[in-house]
Amino acid sequence: MPIHEKSLIRPENITTHDKLVIDGVDVSGHWSTFIESRAITDYNEAMEEEIAALPGGEHIHRCWQCGSCTNSCTVHAIEPRFNPRYWIYLIRTGMESELLRDKDIIWQCVSCNKCTYACPRDVEPEGVMKATAHWLELKGHVPESPSMTFDKIFTEEIVKHGKIEDTKVLMKFMQRTKQPLLQDWVVQIGRNIAMRLPVKWGLKSAWSFVFHPKTRGWKRAQGAIQDYIIEKEAEQKKALGLTIPSPRPSRGEG
Ligand code: SF4
Ligand code: SF4
Repeated sequence: MPIHEKSLIRPENITTHDKLVIDGVDVSGHWSTFIESRAITDYNEAMEEEIAALPGGEHIHRCWQCGSCTNSCTVHAIEPRFNPRYWIYLIRTGMESELLRDKDIIWQCVSCNKCTYACPRDVEPEGVMKATAHWLELKGHVPESPSMTFDKIFTEEIVKHGKIEDTKVLMKFMQRTKQPLLQDWVVQIGRNIAMRLPVKWGLKSAWSFVFHPKTRGWKRAQGAIQDYIIEKEAEQKKALGLTIPSPRPSRGEG
């Protein structure tokens, strides 16, 4: 699969000669630009399966490298290094060290799903971006992102209560990401809500904050969902060659 995009040529792989004459022809400066060849030896042959084992990455094998995802991508338009097509290519060919060079920008996907609509092969590139960001965290290549922390808190709340209580989710998120609760934007949102929300709803929210609402008969579903999550996490970690933690003994905890 050839790579045609100029932006993919790393500056450190480009050389020019300030003074070079070949067969009497002066090719100094940009006339003597060379792209150095590279030998890649550290392939991760399991990489495609690893990404496919994570939610969103299931259809990565369908990609035929047409580039429609990158062409339609919101983030690529302002950050040319954000390139779903290229990353899918690297994953499918097992070029892990090349992918890791972009590890600090892969999380920037804004989930607009333009790529998903443009993809002629139903790869769901947005899902692949999410799976790749998740893979980077699970493998320890990047620290846990705020987005992952939020997802975990959201899931914990759902599993525990069968419902979420917005204010509690936000407070837990701020606590776990070590952010002060009274930031300008939080105060602004709180003020806007207080000014616009009917009194009846305000009282209902306050009640929900103190007495967390629960879905009726949740305990039975809770156990099944916890088991499913444990099973899926174990499958994913096994696919990634990671240590599988012993199952949580908290089934049915309410
Ligand atoms: S969902 Fe992500 S990868 Fe897809 S177009 Fe939007 S920003 Fe780009
Ligand atoms: S649009 Fe779909 S098939 Fe085309 S490069 Fe992107 S993921 Fe692959």
